Amino acid sequence: MKELKRKRRIRTDRLLMLIGACILSLILVFGIVSKLFSILNPSILSKEFAKANMEVKLEDDKVDSNVYSKKDKDSGEKLIYAIHLPKLKSDEANQKMETFVNQILDEKAKVTHIDYESNQAFSQYKSYVIQATTYESVEDKEPLNPIKTEKLYINFDKDELITLEDCVREKVISQFAKKNEVSEDQIQLVKINESGVVMDVNGKEENLAYDKSSFVMNNENIPSLLKYEKIHVEKREIDPTKPMIAFTFDDGPSPGNTERILQALEKVGGRATFFQLGYLMEIYPETVRKVVESGSEVANHSYAHDWLTEKSLEDALADIQSVNDIAFSITGNEVKLVRPPYGAYNSAIKEGITEKVVMWDVDTRDWESKNTESIIKMTKQYSYDGAIVLFHDIHSATIPAVEELITYYDELGYQFVTVSELYEIKGK
Ligand code: ZN
Repeated sequence: MKELKRKRRIRTDRLLMLIGACILSLILVFGIVSKLFSILNPSILSKEFAKANMEVKLEDDKVDSNVYSKKDKDSGEKLIYAIHLPKLKSDEANQKMETFVNQILDEKAKVTHIDYESNQAFSQYKSYVIQATTYESVEDKEPLNPIKTEKLYINFDKDELITLEDCVREKVISQFAKKNEVSEDQIQLVKINESGVVMDVNGKEENLAYDKSSFVMNNENIPSLLKYEKIHVEKREIDPTKPMIAFTFDDGPSPGNTERILQALEKVGGRATFFQLGYLMEIYPETVRKVVESGSEVANHSYAHDWLTEKSLEDALADIQSVNDIAFSITGNEVKLVRPPYGAYNSAIKEGITEKVVMWDVDTRDWESKNTESIIKMTKQYSYDGAIVLFHDIHSATIPAVEELITYYDELGYQFVTVSELYEIKGK
């Protein structure tokens, strides 16, 4: 009995093996046939061209490969395509890729080859560089036009497209632009590596290694001064034909007072500029963030209200830089304006900084009178369309005066603008 059972088992095993082998060879034959079909169809495509994939691709990429030819309706010519594209999850990225591909297809070159390269850094960032090359014939080695590229960078944590501004501090980008004598939009992100980013500076590749003061990426492996999430401020339209006024508040942040001013401004859709002290920003970061979140502007009023003109130039510039870095670390936004304490500066300080130095047109002398009625009177008496008005949000008498003045000027049709907005409109 035992022997019989063993024999029967062997026969079953053999049968299974035979079936398995049949299935395997079927799959193999099917694979070869379909591969051959894709290469030979259209027959003019050389094997090399059909396989001309770019080498650098991520292993987990899903690739959409399309090799085909078609007759152009208008010219009757045969057009050949080899298109290899990644399948992406982000709608935004897919749309951008589609727009690029359609632009290339519209050119109706005789031979079009679209392919891509992909890279990954810290499992969070993926980059796809899509490249389109067109030829006069399949045998040609020289492309018809310069190779066109479209670059997509995706933050996979959020499934969002990212730009150079999401990686590198605005300040660093403008410094690069200045150094290379190009405009900021001629600098683009090429690649995100584990050691830094690669930028395209007007056709020239530049590496920028990760360092604390240059990057804004939200990744534990990338050093950054940024301690909070970057606040994105929407640019708004100002009507240049209507009157406007720039209220400015020095010596804060002053929790409670600063928020009351922001609330009053919010009621009329207004914005203002807050020239703050570095050491107070460090103590009250939440108030600093509220200013920027509301659309108002945080600017530099030195670290501790010292006379900058009494410091060495080196120390004065370091003082200003330290406040810029503090503001940046809290909001992710760059400071664009500096108002030196007591309005005291010299030409060496002015030349040593990239920020604009801002004085005032109207001094409400709130620091002297500390009287609400007097502050209102001074402001109404001296202010005009386009004026920069000086207040201090650390004085409690200033707050009700400002609340009343905001209503007053709003009813007169004034727009409350930041100093940067005012300068932009005035072309300063
Ligand atoms: Zn001051």
